[in-house]
Amino acid sequence: MKLYEFQGKELFRSFGIATPEGTLCRKGDVFFGSRPHVLKAQVLSGGRGKAGAVILCKSDPERDAALKKLFAMTLKGEPVNAVLAEECVEILHEYYLSITFDGEARTPLLLASAAGGMDIEQVADEHPEKILKLPFDSIAGPLDYHFRHVARFLGTSRPKELVEFLKKLYRAWRETNAVLMEVNPLIETPSGFVALDAKVDLDDDAEPLHRELFAKLRREQGTIDPDLGEAKHDTITYVPLDGDIGLISDGAGTGMLTLDLLKDHGGAAADFCEMGGLTSPEIMYSAMARVMGNPKLRSLLVVLIGGFNRMDEMAEGIVRYVREFAPKIPIVVRLCGTMEAEGNQIMRAANLPVCDDLEQAVHVAVTSSAGS
Ligand code: GDP
Ligand code: MN
Repeated sequence: MKLYEFQGKELFRSFGIATPEGTLCRKGDVFFGSRPHVLKAQVLSGGRGKAGAVILCKSDPERDAALKKLFAMTLKGEPVNAVLAEECVEILHEYYLSITFDGEARTPLLLASAAGGMDIEQVADEHPEKILKLPFDSIAGPLDYHFRHVARFLGTSRPKELVEFLKKLYRAWRETNAVLMEVNPLIETPSGFVALDAKVDLDDDAEPLHRELFAKLRREQGTIDPDLGEAKHDTITYVPLDGDIGLISDGAGTGMLTLDLLKDHGGAAADFCEMGGLTSPEIMYSAMARVMGNPKLRSLLVVLIGGFNRMDEMAEGIVRYVREFAPKIPIVVRLCGTMEAEGNQIMRAANLPVCDDLEQAVHVAVTSSAGS
């Protein structure tokens, strides 16, 4: 999950990394405050500086004109819907710093260059010697000498402060399971090192470890680009069919199997709805809402096979939906696998029956659809 600069910087600050002070300004917002500002278009692509999407303003009229100009821009296909207005910072020196993975060498690494600023790709092409690539052990993390080596390579006169900055960046990278944290430019100011830009990419596969963080980031992104919001981001596949038995499964294979079984038992599915394997209470809840929205439904069959998926979480999603909407049609749930006992208990506590046999669940769904 790629983050907007303002999100990356907020994450940085939560790990004690200094950034300039800024305010996010959405399209249509009235902008207050009159200080010299740097206005920066918030898009997920890079190269904003070169594209004229980072503008320094010395006065209010300049700032208003710049805001207008930025909100009219589209950068690499992304319309500008938000602008970060930051206090101007005096730049003594721009460095490049990042922590990422080298896929080919299969190792995490630190990247650093004293030729920071806008064109790190060009530096990499023309002067590879100006970029330090320092692999480190993925379990031990970078050791003190790695950090000191980076400081020496960059030639800063304040190596201790740089080492402290790097340690914070590494902690942020590790604790959020980032695949990339890039600070370009990292600037040296009289009061220390400041991240003037933040490019953060979090590992989507680590979402289960950081559910709240991902949900918050996605909510924020949805207010800037609706395509990035929660609603568009679930992993639900929904295909409407002709029958009257609603079907939800946690994976495609289980769904196909259950479709066949429904047919064998003389029933017909109203849809094929699967949640894409690894899922969450929120997705279970959304799947319920999606399928129950079909007025033709006469019963609902939920078939869950917990591998990575946790049955207590699935039960939570089902129970939440049932409590909120008190549906009238029969609901048949079959769950098994990871945290099965906990899942069953949550269902029982909510007075919802559970079947532990798949064929029997299918049978009940078919006969109750005929009767309801
Ligand atoms: P990118 O081109 O998308 O990576 O955007 P950056 O956030 O890195 O900004 C591009 C360039 O704008 C930086 O390298 C700086 O030279 C300049 N810049 C950004 N913020 C400031 C600021 O507060 N003061 C000054 N003087 N320059 C800035
Ligand atoms: Mn940058």
